[in-house]
Amino acid sequence: MSWQQKIDDALNARRSADALRRRYAVEQGAGRWLMTGDRRFLNFSSNDYLGLSHHPQIIHAWQQGAERFGVGSGGSGHVSGYTVAHQHVEEELADWLGYPRALLFISGFAANQAVIAALMAKDDRIVADRLSHASLLEAASLSPAPLRRFTHNDTRHLTRLLDAPCPGQQLVVTEGVFSMDGDSAPLAEIQRAAARRNAWLLVDDAHGIGVCGEEGRGSCWRQQVRPELLVVTFGKGFGVSGAAILCSARVADYLLQFARHLIYSTSMPPAQAQAIRASLAVIRSEEGDARRAKLAALIARFRRGVDRSRYRLGESHSAIQPLIVGDNARALHLAETLRSRGCWATAIRPPTVPAGTARIRLTLTQSHEREDIDRLLEVLNDAGE
Ligand SMILES: *Cc1c(COP(=O)(O)O)cnc(C)c1O
Repeated sequence: MSWQQKIDDALNARRSADALRRRYAVEQGAGRWLMTGDRRFLNFSSNDYLGLSHHPQIIHAWQQGAERFGVGSGGSGHVSGYTVAHQHVEEELADWLGYPRALLFISGFAANQAVIAALMAKDDRIVADRLSHASLLEAASLSPAPLRRFTHNDTRHLTRLLDAPCPGQQLVVTEGVFSMDGDSAPLAEIQRAAARRNAWLLVDDAHGIGVCGEEGRGSCWRQQVRPELLVVTFGKGFGVSGAAILCSARVADYLLQFARHLIYSTSMPPAQAQAIRASLAVIRSEEGDARRAKLAALIARFRRGVDRSRYRLGESHSAIQPLIVGDNARALHLAETLRSRGCWATAIRPPTVPAGTARIRLTLTQSHEREDIDRLLEVLNDAGE
């Protein structure tokens, strides 16, 4: 088969399954409105849950950071790219979340790849929730350690998998709030199951951090669980970009030696680290509480509205509210209908979600107003008739 044939076949397979992905160049995509071309949509597909991407203090911190440090870090953190801005944000994150250390990464994707590649060897085993994010499952399938997947949030299945003999170490992997379903993992039970087998637990709290728990400390804090490895990201609730791994001093020292994504990659711009610090300050403040409270009220309003309609929602009390419609064509059609009525929402299809569970992934954010939610409900009801 030629190169051309190989590529065409793959594209055609996607196309005929209504699974071809496309991008839209938007003027602005994080906020109440999404602007593209000369049109404006209510934006129900942004992960900027707390509306911080346009926060004046955070923008100012980024600008000041750029003035002081320049726009780029100039190197890997192991050479010259680790600045006092990086150091401060790591210390503040560790203090906030109650861990000895935090290590910054350029993205959540990189953090997950790095930690799994650095820690897992052939004799070890990764036991991951089936619905874990692509960055985790991909890292696990690239790893020489075998991957076993447990039924979503099923601790008994997890326990059975952990009970199978393993010559090395076991790592349990899950998310705090699931990215495509919006539901939460039973972290306390999962941690007990892991501890019983001396397995370590990695929780990726990309969608919980900043958004839930006291001072926005996320899913683990809320459930009083302290995993050995906690991954948090800054592209969602924080409104910026980047990620960190929270861990013990020993693990941090180990990752600094063996995490290739840290060693062989330019560190995050220091100005971005300053923006993350500013975002953290807002998240921890009373303003952060007010933003979380407003978001919670909007979520409750939306769920009450859907309860009175013919749609069914999953068990999500987070900002992620999926309307599961089943087949790809229906999901695409519903997304199109919403768009034609001024609401921007994305159809999420396999392989991002399991086959037969294509959905409209709606995200609510603090930037919405009550009338936006009512408008969305009205459009959904019309579309359902
Ligand atoms: C978004 C996301 C990531 C990736 O984080 P980025 O910083 O966007 O690379 C990782 N894990 C989960 C669960 C996510 O939702």
